[in-house]
Amino acid sequence: MGENVKKNSEHNSEHNLEHNLERDVEKDVEKNVSNDVTEQSSPPAADARHLNTRIVHAGRPDPRVVNGPVFHASTVLFENYAALKAREAAPLDREHMYYGRMGTPTTRALEDAICELDNSVGAVLATSGTASIASILNCYLSPGDHLLMVDSVYGPTRKFCVGSLARRGVRTSFYDPLKHESLESLIDDSTRMIFMESPGSATFEIQDVPAIVAVAKQHGLLTAIDNTWATPLLFNPLDFGVDLAMQSGTKYLNGHADCLFGVTTMRSPELYTQLHHHTLAHGMHLAPDDANLALRGLRTLAVRMGVHDQGARCVAAWLEKQPRVRRLLHPAWESCPGHAIFERDFQGANGLFGMVMRRETEEALAAFVDALQLFGVGFSWGGFESLCLPMQATRNLASVPLAHDEGLVRLHIGLEHPEDLIADLAQGFAAMDAVTSSS
Ligand SMILES: *Cc1c(COP(=O)(O)O)cnc(C)c1O
Repeated sequence: MGENVKKNSEHNSEHNLEHNLERDVEKDVEKNVSNDVTEQSSPPAADARHLNTRIVHAGRPDPRVVNGPVFHASTVLFENYAALKAREAAPLDREHMYYGRMGTPTTRALEDAICELDNSVGAVLATSGTASIASILNCYLSPGDHLLMVDSVYGPTRKFCVGSLARRGVRTSFYDPLKHESLESLIDDSTRMIFMESPGSATFEIQDVPAIVAVAKQHGLLTAIDNTWATPLLFNPLDFGVDLAMQSGTKYLNGHADCLFGVTTMRSPELYTQLHHHTLAHGMHLAPDDANLALRGLRTLAVRMGVHDQGARCVAAWLEKQPRVRRLLHPAWESCPGHAIFERDFQGANGLFGMVMRRETEEALAAFVDALQLFGVGFSWGGFESLCLPMQATRNLASVPLAHDEGLVRLHIGLEHPEDLIADLAQGFAAMDAVTSSS
């Protein structure tokens, strides 16, 4: 199994090393220090270390304490009158704690750790991934603006666009995830933002992010992406020129199915300030215990991802040979729409993929789902447990057309042994066969 984990960490470290070397050179120029060869013998700077190392050490407010205290704070007391007045006169800053809603060392530790992962200038936390998406769309779009939203987007994002956003006077056009050439014809004078999600929810189309960023740059548009599937470990949108990247931390970042949170990272300090102020103005704040759970989960992200990826590849390779499986929507498989772009841009895959299966009747599909013992039925994914979810792919079927006897099922491969998961799926198929042969 080490193969892929190794490939990922090596690539990530190379890629980060490059980035950080650039940054270090900039710093040297700033300090007017000559780039002397003797400098190379000194130990690497903290921010030039491998990504896996940085995930473990980033975001530790007190370096002596591996897991820092959790700050449950609303009121923070000032030393005296003068301290209060000084605070009121000073601009908003991240260094001092002065009221719980503005952030505590606990939420800041999580922000710092995610910034480090994403190579971001800042991180804005939210109570869920959905809240992060709503914040991005509300913060950067005004009445009269036009949004280009990918058609394969997460269902609640679509609902937000056609509901809340439309009521605010922001128009949305949905574009084909696989045809970025069609974007040009959709752009008009009021277009402000192109929003991406890759792979797409349910149908797993991989988008050509660099090509879309190029179109956006040409027209002076903002770009945003839902990067929940990849996390910065598999694809770092900011390094590909995307302005804003959000993730539902509920999924892999936390990884333990015990808290919800969302996070947005960005390429410029101006974009950070805007979203930070927007979030404060709306009184949104991630609760301290959830921030602490998220930080705890984040430490093991790299090892979990490797095991999810290997397990999913084992199960998918077995599924591919099953007579009931017509098509795999696993980004690492050629049958996945946009697979060539996945090969070009991504560092690896994870545990989430789809399959188109021959299900004959709904009863047969129900027999499959109900027979499974290790795969739970439920929303969300990215935790340590395996899940199976029959999908309602009611829109965007252009890239994944279904025949009348086919059904779309999403699987999340958890940290269980893949052989046990395969045995579970095999008895699910047997239960299906029993139903269809008796009818
Ligand atoms: C789950 C999910 C979200 C929403 O995240 P919550 O934390 O559940 O609100 C957004 N985008 C994608 C792609 C998701 O899978």
